Amino acid sequence: MDEARALDQKSHFQTYKRLPFTLSHGKGARVWDTGGKEYIDMLAGIAVNSLGHAHPALVHAIKNQAEKLIHVSNFYTTAPQARLSAKLTSLSGMDRVFLCSSGVEAIEGAFKVARKYAHSKGKSGPIISLEGCFHGRSIAAIASGKEKYQQGFEPMPGGFRQIPFNDKKALDEHVDDQTTALIIEPIQGEGGIRPVDPDYLQYAREVCDRHGTTLILDEIQCGIARTGKMFAFEHSGIKPDIMTLAKGLGGGVPVGAILAREDIAGALNPGDHGTTFGGNPLACAAALAVLKTIERDGLIEQAAEKGAFLKQKLNEKLKGHKLVKEIRGSGLMVGVDLNTDGGAVMRKMAEMGVLVNAASMTVIRFVPPLIVNEKDIETAVDVLKEALDQS
Ligand code: PLP
Repeated sequence: MDEARALDQKSHFQTYKRLPFTLSHGKGARVWDTGGKEYIDMLAGIAVNSLGHAHPALVHAIKNQAEKLIHVSNFYTTAPQARLSAKLTSLSGMDRVFLCSSGVEAIEGAFKVARKYAHSKGKSGPIISLEGCFHGRSIAAIASGKEKYQQGFEPMPGGFRQIPFNDKKALDEHVDDQTTALIIEPIQGEGGIRPVDPDYLQYAREVCDRHGTTLILDEIQCGIARTGKMFAFEHSGIKPDIMTLAKGLGGGVPVGAILAREDIAGALNPGDHGTTFGGNPLACAAALAVLKTIERDGLIEQAAEKGAFLKQKLNEKLKGHKLVKEIRGSGLMVGVDLNTDGGAVMRKMAEMGVLVNAASMTVIRFVPPLIVNEKDIETAVDVLKEALDQS
């Protein structure tokens, strides 16, 4: 075991089942471990390194901003934060942005603003989520999520209810005039790359409109060009009332965002919500560089094209394989659902030089950098096939 792994095992909380190597550096869609072994990174820090590793535009923006101003309190305005807020509103058509530092912070803030807005309308019903969802690891986020993640952390806060996934009848049964919010991931990530149907999203929009319920779309994993649109909601033609972003937005620098309609954002007054680090100039400069590069280099279109290529190769090489149940997803967010333990397959693939992970136990998740090339995609698919053949 190398020194870093020994130190980690002695010092860090042991909350992650880590792989048996230490990563030292990366370039593009490749990373290297301290022993010099090279890996194709098809996980991208779980949909985070949207521009890959050490992208010159991102490195330049970070260096440049670090020399000027890394952090000041949110008592003061900074140009990078103002510019990022304006950029996100113009890209999404949402009215306002609150910047934070992670996905779960965006979710917590979204729940808070949805509740405050609902109270202003005389509502006190639950925030409804879908079975199989994952919105993060804070107490409120786990209260909205899988029972498995709640165990041992009770008591759970009240005001959350789960309903069956992708089920229109369940929306009719559970969303009413008192419902505070309905939260949906357009494609469940941790739940195993499970897209809801576009017409389900349209129906959810209708039901929320009927009852004055706030529709929150959690695009923390599926947003920022990943599915071949800047935001996954664009595939369905509807717009959320609140949207949460994080992961790919900062390209690896921690940035999260809550986007909201004017009247909903207006439910929060000075002093109602805040963060020390959220929206600091360094993080915002990084996010601005990510968004600029995505637009300049046509990475939205590339995600669609490369995603189609990935799915085509997976279908070509794996369809009918006895261990493969289903191949699904959109753009560069693709899952291969197996009849076997995904963890073992993931470890075998890492030994063979390809990084992926297993979502929801059995689903091999491909969420590579948007800059990945077709050759690496094809190699990764071949390696998955070989790992399955050996299983
Ligand atoms: N929401 C979704 C859809 C996610 O996939 C995640 C993380 O995997 C989160 C929220 C939580 O984000 P974070 O881990 O940055 O807190």
